[in-house]
Amino acid sequence: MIPDCPACQSSNVQRCHYGKQIGGSIGAVAGTFSGFAGGTRGAIQGARVGASLMSFAGPAAGASGAVIGAVSGGLMGCITGLKLGALVDKELFSQYRCAQCGTHF
Ligand SMILES: [Zn+2]
Repeated sequence: MIPDCPACQSSNVQRCHYGKQIGGSIGAVAGTFSGFAGGTRGAIQGARVGASLMSFAGPAAGASGAVIGAVSGGLMGCITGLKLGALVDKELFSQYRCAQCGTHF
């Protein structure tokens, strides 16, 4: 059900699909970039933690620490990016456009 225009009360209102697409793209790009940054940071932190444990558990702990750090860091970055994209999509892009007066709402 498409609502009437809040400016001129016209029922000649169209759904805006392009806003959703732009928002989704921004979310995907932000997720990719922040995921990459988070993965790099996570790998460094993981390697550091792994290195400090190395004297107790041997070289395997250093390698697995780096892998776990990279995976969890990348995942966190992706989730943050997707949440940001969804927020941008919801808050900044209007869902409807009035064909009568051109108002976005
Ligand atoms: Zn209107």
